[in-house]
Amino acid sequence: MTSPLRLRLDAAALVDNWRWLARISGTAACGAAVKADGYGLGALAVVGRLAAAGCRDFFVATWAEAEALRPLADSLSVAVLHGVRDDDIGVALAGTARPVLSTPEQVRRWRTAGGGACDVMVDTGMNRLGVSPADVAAGLLDGLAIDTLMSHLACADADVAMNAAQRSAFVALAGRTTARRLSLANSAGICLGPDYAFDLTRPGLALYGGIPRAEAAGHIRQVVTPEAQILQRRRIGAGDPVGYNATFTADRPIELAILNIGYADGYLRTFSGTGAARAGDARLPVVGRVSMDLTAICVDAAPDLAEGDWVMLDYDLPTASAQSGLSQYELLTGLGARFDRVW
Ligand SMILES: *Cc1c(COP(=O)(O)O)cnc(C)c1O
Repeated sequence: MTSPLRLRLDAAALVDNWRWLARISGTAACGAAVKADGYGLGALAVVGRLAAAGCRDFFVATWAEAEALRPLADSLSVAVLHGVRDDDIGVALAGTARPVLSTPEQVRRWRTAGGGACDVMVDTGMNRLGVSPADVAAGLLDGLAIDTLMSHLACADADVAMNAAQRSAFVALAGRTTARRLSLANSAGICLGPDYAFDLTRPGLALYGGIPRAEAAGHIRQVVTPEAQILQRRRIGAGDPVGYNATFTADRPIELAILNIGYADGYLRTFSGTGAARAGDARLPVVGRVSMDLTAICVDAAPDLAEGDWVMLDYDLPTASAQSGLSQYELLTGLGARFDRVW
């Protein structure tokens, strides 16, 4: 069975993006954040390709996501960013993935369970997850077998004083634990330069074609392109409306194609009137409201397109973000489950 919509996934671009991030990570190892099913691309497929290119360190959010990597996990380092709850202890002790402990309670739980190597998240100012530097100074982590001590930057996509402040707070922790490695930078943090790379970097967005900062433009390539099949081609006359609530009315006779993609696939209503599809060089603008499963485009510029043909949706992440008001992250992770994923 095939689906009338598919994601074209460019494996060479994924790997080249990782190689570029690894290069500007300098002497630091470059890992990969593959939470949320590899930002919507399919975590196992992403991990397989990056591992073949030499990536060794992978980050997921939950133990279920770590389990999904089991077929590949034995030779890799997998860290579970949301730490370990009581309910997770069994699966955590049985596998090879490490929890990223982020509260004193999690540290106690891991010690009590006799867990082995772990990672620890320290909060350096984002006030999301992490133990406090004060707790570290007070000995919370003493004797713990820490592989990687990490923190997370709140504003690395902007040039603000908080970046240097978080970095300083993180540097102050060096040598205060037995951690084998230090890790601070996400995609945007890598672009801030070698001072932010430490021993291990953790890019996510940029691997998948997102441009976190201007430094990445021209180096990071698009990985994901949605494609949808035309279910019907029709001609409408001047004055005819299109779609729910008739938000578009033709001011002259035009040709429409109705595509098999909609907001349930992550192609949200914010693309109404701003998004476009492509067929060859022709730009085919979205007209009227995006429906749950269907989207209308004007195909005046593509006279030969017919029922059953495929078009690409414009999905260059920075551009699509500007068109839709969605973040580049949301554009990736919102992609639905009905796509065939074609590498
Ligand atoms: C998601 C995440 C990353 C990756 O961030 P990007 O901005 O996608 O590069 C790195 N570290 C942590 C802790 C994360 O939660």
